[in-house]
Amino acid sequence: MDKMVYNFSAGPAMLPVEVMQQAQAEFRDFNGLGVSVMELSHRGADYMAVAAQAEQDLRDLLQVPDNYKVLFLQGGGRGQFAAVALNLMGKNAKADYIVTGQWSQSAVAEAEKVGQVRVLDGFETTGNGPRALADRWDLDPTAAYVHYCPNETVEGIEYHFVPDTGEVPLIADMSSTILSRPIDVSKFGLIYAGAQKNIGPSGLAVVIVREDLLQQACPHTPAIMDYAAMAKADSMLNTPPTYAWYLAGLVFKWLKREGGLEAMGERNKAKAELLYNYVDASDFYSNNVHPQARSWMNIPFQLKDDALNDAFLKEAKAEGLLALKGHRIVGGMRASLYNAMPIEGVQALVAFMDRFAKQHG
Ligand code: PMP
Repeated sequence: MDKMVYNFSAGPAMLPVEVMQQAQAEFRDFNGLGVSVMELSHRGADYMAVAAQAEQDLRDLLQVPDNYKVLFLQGGGRGQFAAVALNLMGKNAKADYIVTGQWSQSAVAEAEKVGQVRVLDGFETTGNGPRALADRWDLDPTAAYVHYCPNETVEGIEYHFVPDTGEVPLIADMSSTILSRPIDVSKFGLIYAGAQKNIGPSGLAVVIVREDLLQQACPHTPAIMDYAAMAKADSMLNTPPTYAWYLAGLVFKWLKREGGLEAMGERNKAKAELLYNYVDASDFYSNNVHPQARSWMNIPFQLKDDALNDAFLKEAKAEGLLALKGHRIVGGMRASLYNAMPIEGVQALVAFMDRFAKQHG
């Protein structure tokens, strides 16, 4: 590899270069043990220390209050679509789901297998043109919880505020936005995220859950999805995805070294603004998400003429700009700018887009 490659994949996504280098350096010999982390028993002292440190670093980064459990689970984001419903609808089998796109809609489908789900439109108005995110909904005050997706990875739609759901616990699928900026965990009943964007490699899901919500699981909840059982066993009721957990720990340490989530938030905002400002000023590219709801993490954009998409992707790849193809539902392009993407990557992308527009405009 003789030139820098920037990977704009929506997930599994790029990881920080320093993290990959550290993992490589200790790949076959962790802590002088002569074996890899992935060859250690999850019950041994060496691995238990890795796991505990990762949890502590995540708690520090997000300032997780003491009355919340942090779980390291399997089954990705989708596994949590089911687990949330199974764990929270045991006593009161109804929930409100705010829908804003592909992923919040997919969460509804799993919850409907468990209880009664009310689907609420997450947008302000109907009709043509980009729609802003609503900040009021017709919520059921007796629902077990309200679920929403703070960042819709496919459409590039993001909440820049936390919904106020009163006394009803707020549940957030933060798969594609967790750790991108500071958040107030105490506003949430439960936060979950598949790891393969801002946390680490796939195979791991993180759940942060308020302790009082651990008493309301459906009796048929499988043990490996049962938050209370997992919390009691320190997420080791069964063998956890040990290597993914270790890598997540390296990412958390990297985030701390980089200045934590305040610094990440500033960086991510600047990266996103660079790309949006360029797209908005151009008559060759467009983004049609309402300005109030534009994601810092996933930025879809369209070319003036779809017939140029293949040429754009081919030339971008030749310049080391990878994985820009948009999701098939939205079409066009999508640049995912997670924490590990440096500003230089966005600068390189904008410079390429400008050259391409001049050649083909
Ligand atoms: N929620 C969101 C917001 C996502 O972006 C994704 C995956 N892209 C998922 C859930 C599903 O995650 P997984 O593939 O790990 O099940």
